[in-house]
Amino acid sequence: GCTAEDVAAALRAAAETVAEHKSELTDLDRPIGDGDHGENMHRGFTALTASLAEAVPETPGAVLKLAATTLISKVGGAAGPLYGTALLRAATALGQEQELDAAAVKKALRAGLDGVVARGKAEVGDATMVDALAPAVEAADRVDADDVAEVLAAAADAADEGANSTTPLVARKGRASYLGERSVGHLDPGARSTALLLRTFAEAAR
Ligand code: ADP
Ligand code: MG
Ligand code: MG
Repeated sequence: GCTAEDVAAALRAAAETVAEHKSELTDLDRPIGDGDHGENMHRGFTALTASLAEAVPETPGAVLKLAATTLISKVGGAAGPLYGTALLRAATALGQEQELDAAAVKKALRAGLDGVVARGKAEVGDATMVDALAPAVEAADRVDADDVAEVLAAAADAADEGANSTTPLVARKGRASYLGERSVGHLDPGARSTALLLRTFAEAAR
């Protein structure tokens, strides 16, 4: 099973991924947004790494709750509250569980998606992070094996495909929606960051 320390390690790895892809995420946000998504994510995950260096909370849920509050206060923009809500809902769904099995991971992913949708009201096809996260949750649920790494690998594969599916879409939520048809032809930065995060979690679970 996946312990609090495993979850913390996955989040540290996510911070590295975000640092490596900071420019890419910002470049994606420039033509259809305000060119800050990479900076926003990097600021949040740098703060999260610092918090985790102080102390790792005792349960996986408590680690996710720390991540939620840190990202909400440090990422800012649209993405901070959305990722923060996802993590907070995931944390709540896990309660006091000490070790996460595949079923717990599926439950946390589903709760995270529900949080993003409750907060941002985006549907699949609106060209947002939901286009990566929703298929990821569905793919995770379809995995039969009780294997956290397998569940997260399926989620990451679906998130990649879902993120790529945003390119031909007209954005209907967030700043990109202000462009209307001119948002067509651009990969959504939040969908890309969601895919990167899930890939990192999958690799951390191997
Ligand atoms: P901001 O747009 O405030 O500068 P970011 O650039 O950090 O914030 O994040 C932009 C990303 O947030 C978008 O690419 C999109 O994936 C996501 N996003 C924006 N609004 C919504 C929404 N209502 N629902 C889901 N995701 C959204
Ligand atoms: Mg932005
Ligand atoms: Mg902004």
